[in-house]
Amino acid sequence: MNRGRILVISGPSGSGKSSIINYLLTKIENATLSVSTTSRPMRKGEVDGIDYNFVTKDEFQKLIKEDKFLEYEHVHENYYGTRKDLVEDALEFGKLLIFDVDTRGRDNIHKHFSDITVSLFVTTPSRDILEERLRNRGTETEETLKVRLKNAVDEMKQLPNFDYFVVNDDLEKAKNDVLKIAELTEYKPSNSLTSALIELWEL
Ligand code: ADP
Ligand code: 5GP
Repeated sequence: MNRGRILVISGPSGSGKSSIINYLLTKIENATLSVSTTSRPMRKGEVDGIDYNFVTKDEFQKLIKEDKFLEYEHVHENYYGTRKDLVEDALEFGKLLIFDVDTRGRDNIHKHFSDITVSLFVTTPSRDILEERLRNRGTETEETLKVRLKNAVDEMKQLPNFDYFVVNDDLEKAKNDVLKIAELTEYKPSNSLTSALIELWEL
């Protein structure tokens, strides 16, 4: 049975994950984004149900109590989480499921689905460039910007745990590099596939 594959993309906020993921979604027919649930306020241009499922803090805490999350974290002072039911549905359809999660989220997803998960870390050439991009994006206050830059330093320390690493200097190049990596996920020998093949050889 083909259970689908997972590509987890992590990296500092502002490193270009969303820009790259949007490109992947136009290039890989079988790819779908794992739409996270969050309690953070919606940004201008974001669409509920497409970028995130936006809920209040109380609603998020209720979902935690109901055990609806595969994983969730309190990131940049907001809740973010992955719902179990959405992941299972996508994998059952054999999709390439793309996650945009922090590095702890990556660890949890890897724990659950190690045989089908490829992980990629995206970052900028420097901390200054990250700050410049976050400022230019115009989504942060001075306060939230500071939190994101501080968290970026901690996120960078997790870089050695990833399968792949892309420095987003030129966006076009970064997109193409990530596309190549995404295409490799297909060749990851999942447990279900290898056991079926081994069984066939034994006949
Ligand atoms: P993330 O999803 O990791 O938070 P975004 O995709 O929102 O990051 O990118 C952060 C900002 O930087 C956005 O305004 C985006 O348009 C811009 N950006 C992304 N890649 C580049 C690049 N290579 N050069 C300049 N600006 C970039
Ligand atoms: P942003 O507010 O910029 O959209 O996202 C902030 C951070 O939260 C990013 O590092 C992003 O990868 C992470 N994130 C988004 N959704 C999830 C999720 O479902 N789980 C976890 N663990 N992190 C998430």
